[in-house]
Amino acid sequence: MNTSISAEFGTVYTGDTIQGTSVISHLDINDLEPGKQHRFFFQGVQMGTGQHWYVPIVVAKGDRPGKRIALITGIHGDELSSIDAVQRIMANLDPAQMSGTAIAVYGISRPAMEYTHAQWAIAQCGGLLIDMNRVWPGDEAGINAPTRHAGLLWNRLFKPNIDIAIDYHTVSTGSDFTLFLFADFRKPEIQQMAELFPVEQIKNDPGEGGALETALIEAGIPALTVEIGSPRIFDAQKIALTVEGSMNVFKHYKVIEGAIGRTSKEAGTFFGDEFETIRSTVGGFLEMLVDVKQKVTSGQKVAVQRNAFGDIVAEYTSTVAGEVATIARDALSEPGSRVMQILYNSTDLKRDLGTDHQTRDGY
Ligand SMILES: [Zn+2]
Repeated sequence: MNTSISAEFGTVYTGDTIQGTSVISHLDINDLEPGKQHRFFFQGVQMGTGQHWYVPIVVAKGDRPGKRIALITGIHGDELSSIDAVQRIMANLDPAQMSGTAIAVYGISRPAMEYTHAQWAIAQCGGLLIDMNRVWPGDEAGINAPTRHAGLLWNRLFKPNIDIAIDYHTVSTGSDFTLFLFADFRKPEIQQMAELFPVEQIKNDPGEGGALETALIEAGIPALTVEIGSPRIFDAQKIALTVEGSMNVFKHYKVIEGAIGRTSKEAGTFFGDEFETIRSTVGGFLEMLVDVKQKVTSGQKVAVQRNAFGDIVAEYTSTVAGEVATIARDALSEPGSRVMQILYNSTDLKRDLGTDHQTRDGY
């Protein structure tokens, strides 16, 4: 067995197979045969009835050593373009020609995936919904099943095996998003990686407590979050650009050879470092006056809201110049619901309003 520092346990096979695929409870890519693809079910946390949730993973282990890049999907269960994007990236990779490894993780939040929900429904306390992107790095002895699930993945899959990570999302059901990256530009390596993606918008973002991307960065593993537009569907156009950017990352780190494809430069990516988040002040039905990716100016009216009688009850105005990043697609809007987020550059504007800084692809 390889005695490198990450080979503390070696790959642990539970002895079970599911639909012909081996179940593992700990991955150590050092003991996998190089130049090949390997597929497993990773044994996650148990359900209340005692069976486990299993996460499908594929390891493309290069013929030669090099960077180990994780491609992570399904932290939210309704964000399906992430799955298609990573399957396409893996199909582009030939382990026999690689110097390094790709680890594809297909759908972390198992019960959320099964029901096409953003969050993981647990039975505890009469039923709660847990956002799997607020529990990292998790805890194997944590206070609920999703936190323990995250702890198992963190300790036995991610931490010992990866140098770089890309976490693929979309917006949650009820909204829409551009093709977008969250990237922490305080780390030059992460900025460089982000700029390799031919996306519509990039937000220089310091991260959020409990997000996988943030936990990885705090553990010294460069990571970024990709948002591939709309939930629930496969958006072919945005997926293709996501694949192109991801292949650029593999080329940048010399895992594969080849010329870098289109990047943020060719795409004319819009960069910002703040969101203006507009929320409904009252209940009612929304009429949007703008759409995702559209440029807006300070003072521009962006949405109106009507009550059940058709009277206008609220009008919403941008206070910044920027581009629309997220937008509500559900016409009915409860008070406090997110109407839209406008990406802008804080250095363009000296302002000190009590802006709502809720950032990620939630609610
Ligand atoms: Zn998400």
